[in-house]
Amino acid sequence: MKITIIGTGYVGLVSGACFSEFGFHVTCVDKDSSKVERLKNGEIPIYEPGLDDLVARNAAAGRLDFTLDLASSVRDADAVFIAVGTPARRGDGHADLSYVYAAAKEIAGHLTGYTVVVTKSTVPVGTGRKVAAILHETNPGADVDVASNPEFLREGSAISDFMRPDRVVVGTDSERAHDVMRGLYRPLYLLETPILFTSLETSELIKYAANAFLAVKISYINQMADLCEKLGADVHDVAKGMGLDKRIGSKFLHPGPGYGGSCFPKDTLALVKTAEDCGGSISIVEEVVRYNNGRKISMSDRVIDAAGGTVEGKKVAILGLAFKPETDDMRDSPALDIIPRLMAAGAGISAYDPAAMEQARPLLPEGVSYCTSAAEAVSSADVTVIVTEWNEFRAMSPADMAGAMRGNVLVDLRNIYDPAAVMKAGLNLSNIGRSQQV
Ligand code: NAD
Repeated sequence: MKITIIGTGYVGLVSGACFSEFGFHVTCVDKDSSKVERLKNGEIPIYEPGLDDLVARNAAAGRLDFTLDLASSVRDADAVFIAVGTPARRGDGHADLSYVYAAAKEIAGHLTGYTVVVTKSTVPVGTGRKVAAILHETNPGADVDVASNPEFLREGSAISDFMRPDRVVVGTDSERAHDVMRGLYRPLYLLETPILFTSLETSELIKYAANAFLAVKISYINQMADLCEKLGADVHDVAKGMGLDKRIGSKFLHPGPGYGGSCFPKDTLALVKTAEDCGGSISIVEEVVRYNNGRKISMSDRVIDAAGGTVEGKKVAILGLAFKPETDDMRDSPALDIIPRLMAAGAGISAYDPAAMEQARPLLPEGVSYCTSAAEAVSSADVTVIVTEWNEFRAMSPADMAGAMRGNVLVDLRNIYDPAAVMKAGLNLSNIGRSQQV
């Protein structure tokens, strides 16, 4: 079978490379000519561990190629995946489906033979039916069915998530599309991966239901952390005590500065809008959206408090810019809330991230000093703030940090350091939801 993927971003590129690793011939299409050019030259435009080897191997084997030419790649395809962005629409927070519908329209005119058009983008309920309508209106003679196949991969571990997922979800009403999708995921079926076939609407909702649930879980432990700080309890022990209960599980119980990234913020908002549109409300998720936005903003106050009430004229080292480790994705990263507010309060910022420096620059205010290492960033800093828990930062010794800094304030928003070691090094520690007593 031949597969075409429209949109070669974090999801499209990983999905394309992994399907080619399964043995299918995959063509990845993007309208960004510089991205396609880089990929053709063997360069990977995003930071994702292991992706360079996977792409190189499959491109060399002739199973994976990249093009700007949507028309010719769609013509031969058995399945066309739409993997374009669905950001929050400016102004109202609904998912912006303009890229999805534009892609559907472009695909429609070039369909030949039986084709399944699959939405892999995260899209609200009803989008698959609209895509089907666009395909049939634009090309009434097309022999085409639609399917929904939401993607659950996580940036930073995207390849193993795609190759060994907890489950695959496919929504379609068509027997023929069902058979094509089963064929595409056959390599995972052989590994006994659960493959859940549902209606289009159910499949679309599963993705939002899952992401919103995880966002609720993160916000729950963040609120527990707030409470721990007031009560002198330790949120890590609370999380452990909760997580050992198999009904709860230990994942997504790590307190921090609030969730960011390319999915949770926009998907929680879109789910709230979906509920409103059908005359309902999903008040738990509404509250999580409100709380998380406030939490990210409040992290700059936490830094200012830790610095003794002001950062005016102080040098603040920011370690970590990406929304999580092992990615260069800056979308809705807490750093984008924290840094501008600290600068507005008079701080000078020296920032370092192992992968996201290039992506961060256009999103942060003028005047940030970008460093080439963590050591350079903390050198003569008054305050150091851990925003992203890269392993590189975990490995830093608090004693070395204390020796390099001018001041002695460490704000650990990811709780990566042992409080006893930090205090032994002579640093004043502010962390999340842990008693400062050791
Ligand atoms: P992205 O912004 O990294 O990539 C989207 C790509 O689509 C861009 O390269 C853009 O140039 C291209 N594009 C847009 N319109 C096009 C068109 N008409 N023809 C060809 N190319 C086109 O987005 P992403 O992070 O890969 O996310 C894609 C979808 O997958 C979103 O709906 C997202 O919610 C969902 N998703 C993302 C993740 C993640 O971790 N990033 C995980 C699961 C699901």
